Amino acid sequence: MRLIAMEEAFALPDVLARRPLTRTSTSPELIDVWNRRLVDFTEERLPLMDKYGIDVQVLSLTVPGIQGLTDPGEAVAESRRANDFLAEVIARHPDRFKGFAAVPLQDPRAAAAELERAVNVLGLSGALVNDHTGGHYYDEPRFDVFWDKLAELDVPLYLHPGAPPADQWHLLKGRPELVGPVWTWGAETAGHALRLVLGGVFDRHPQARLVLGHMGEGLPFHLARLDSRYACQSDRPLRRKPSAYFGDNVLVTVSGVWSHAALTGAIAELGVDAVMFAVDYPYESTETAVEFLRSAPLAAEDLEKVAHLNAARLLRLN
Ligand code: MN
Repeated sequence: MRLIAMEEAFALPDVLARRPLTRTSTSPELIDVWNRRLVDFTEERLPLMDKYGIDVQVLSLTVPGIQGLTDPGEAVAESRRANDFLAEVIARHPDRFKGFAAVPLQDPRAAAAELERAVNVLGLSGALVNDHTGGHYYDEPRFDVFWDKLAELDVPLYLHPGAPPADQWHLLKGRPELVGPVWTWGAETAGHALRLVLGGVFDRHPQARLVLGHMGEGLPFHLARLDSRYACQSDRPLRRKPSAYFGDNVLVTVSGVWSHAALTGAIAELGVDAVMFAVDYPYESTETAVEFLRSAPLAAEDLEKVAHLNAARLLRLN
């Protein structure tokens, strides 16, 4: 069975040398492994892909990426540098690596231009952003120019967590273990995705495709309540009920949620054409991810869709 992994991180070596990962809540041994593997492509990454049967990793710049920058000019230059680096990595192993572009959404017009260059000149397959940019969420009208370009180029936007927090939540006071991938990343990214849906982004850009990781950041399990409570609102500007955009404009990957119950639930809510495989390398175990998928309680043809067919169609890889 062919395997395409959709959320696979890398770092620019000079950036990681200046700012290595240091999460205090993570074990130092894991941090060392992640710092090593983020900048490696051939010593550990490809051998692990070979060992566990991953045919293609779709690479993307790790957190916080361009969303960690505040100066628009620097964001534009760093996006170009990251995308050129990524294109060179892919050129050395074109059958094994594909990539999502970094985009400088500090300047939406420049982001649209860089996306066009990344797709048409460098051959990248879409864009990945680490949540909001400087507290700006992409339902704001200023980002319409970027959504237009995504739709025109027919490539997806992967909305990944991990921007520096836009504000402080009282909810988190005294509970630092909730911050990051344990809870806040999923909650923030799910909230951002709901802003896009409720803000009418997919009414204005019906061809646009958004990808959420981590089994859709929990949203597949909230759709029924979203619809029933949206129906109670006095103002309902959407053309469709909120859940209708999920599985159509909004697709998900399984990254880091190794639960067959969650997988079958997401497929039941979104349809089997809207769920794709991902590992979240190097933060997750390739072995665990592949074992999770291979042992999933799915019909053979559905397994093929999740493993590679849906991703290949979305990214036009075949
Ligand atoms: Mn990730």
